[in-house]
Amino acid sequence: MALYRIAVASFSHETLTFCPEPTDLEAWEGGGIKYGYETLDTSGEGKTYITGFKEAANGLDDVELVGVLRTGWPRTIGYGSWISTEAFDVITARITSRLEELAQIEGVLLALHGAMAVRNVPRPEAEIVRRVRHVVGNIPIMVTFDLHANEDVEMANAADGIFVLKTYPHLDSHETGYVASKCMIETLRGNFKPTMAFRKPPIVSASVFQASAFHPMKKVYDRCREWERKGVYCASVAPGFAYADVPDLGASVFVVTNDDRALAEKAAQDLHDLMWNLREDLTRILPGAKEGVRQVMEMVASGNKPIVIAYHDDRLGDGTHVVRELLEQGAVNWCSTCTADPDALAYLRESHSIGDTVDLSVGAWLHEISGEPVEVSGGIRFLGELEWVETGLVGRGATRTLENVAWLDLGKNRHVVITERLFAPMSSDPLKAMGIDMDSIDIVEIKSRVHHKAYWDTWSAVDFPVDPPGLGPANLGILEYKYLPWDIYPIGEKYLS
Ligand SMILES: [Zn+2]
Repeated sequence: MALYRIAVASFSHETLTFCPEPTDLEAWEGGGIKYGYETLDTSGEGKTYITGFKEAANGLDDVELVGVLRTGWPRTIGYGSWISTEAFDVITARITSRLEELAQIEGVLLALHGAMAVRNVPRPEAEIVRRVRHVVGNIPIMVTFDLHANEDVEMANAADGIFVLKTYPHLDSHETGYVASKCMIETLRGNFKPTMAFRKPPIVSASVFQASAFHPMKKVYDRCREWERKGVYCASVAPGFAYADVPDLGASVFVVTNDDRALAEKAAQDLHDLMWNLREDLTRILPGAKEGVRQVMEMVASGNKPIVIAYHDDRLGDGTHVVRELLEQGAVNWCSTCTADPDALAYLRESHSIGDTVDLSVGAWLHEISGEPVEVSGGIRFLGELEWVETGLVGRGATRTLENVAWLDLGKNRHVVITERLFAPMSSDPLKAMGIDMDSIDIVEIKSRVHHKAYWDTWSAVDFPVDPPGLGPANLGILEYKYLPWDIYPIGEKYLS
């Protein structure tokens, strides 16, 4: 048995509490939960936090990783809403009971997300760490987070080291996992004394403004790396996830040094102040669907193309605001990549096959905010299960499948893709796999905020976010928060006069 045995678990969700569908245990089971050694089996998955954990331990005689549990993404149609207390308790208990069974464990690596929202559990990730601590005792527990994490001092108190992504689109989960795992290993060997400082800039911002390669977040991540060149082991800023109505909403800063309290505090304060100074740049007004599509068609007409319309705030997948405007304003050469409508798909599969011409009413059935169903008529060009290998930067190398998808060709090079649930193509691979000629397309509508940019910015001349009614809006003022901190900029009570 290796000298240092490190348990690995992952329980991760970004909860959009304004959505209608709760995330219960059935949804988690439906998404797939892996146990034991399968936790560490990452074949066919591309790069993840877990591959990073493994790389740091690879080839070391004194270290062994022990898989405990890893959740997949729960199965819901749109974005999952509130996680049930039962689901949280049961899955956390599966982690802690396995940890209790394991004879010898020297450290625990947890890949969490940070934007979980659970009924009756105000700070779920801090609670996971506390429950793990309760069974493993005073050994190092280190946590990785997505940069959409909403965390506060309870998390800082619970874990020994916290490591957050620095890229959005998220391309550094492997690196972040590696940094956490390396820190764990050197801590166990006695070469490292994790010393962490925490700050909470009281700012909440829409995801669409958090892209790491652009102002303002680029400035923040450049500053993190500057501190890391000056001796900080890992400097993290999570801008947070605006669409979870939780008391620890908003940005957070975690700085880990090797036994240098003063340096950690100095860097954390600096990053806090920088975020605060950038607060106005983290909010901006975006056009709605009508005005947005009008502007996009003008750009296309002037040769500024192709264009991606990021229908960023449709978190249900059934939103029709953009496709309706494309149809009504007479746009051509476009592809709408997701209208979630399982009933329409079931109808197509039962009554039709590829080559048929159909009249169909699709979308806008999950929530009134999604708009009205749109009437489309066209030929079925693809119907059924789609499989492809991702070649884009997000999840490169991973085999992806959509169990059930339809492509309708409406004529005039206008295309509508109907899916079972919210879907955003991270490259043109799935569209090409269906047979769509992407070279002839001027406008692609994608229901994504930033992730798509890793590939689609290389394809398009312009990425154009629009803000029609939706459950993940840029204008946070339209959401009805219940647990909003009073002093959070720009929507806390303190700022409403
Ligand atoms: Zn994220």
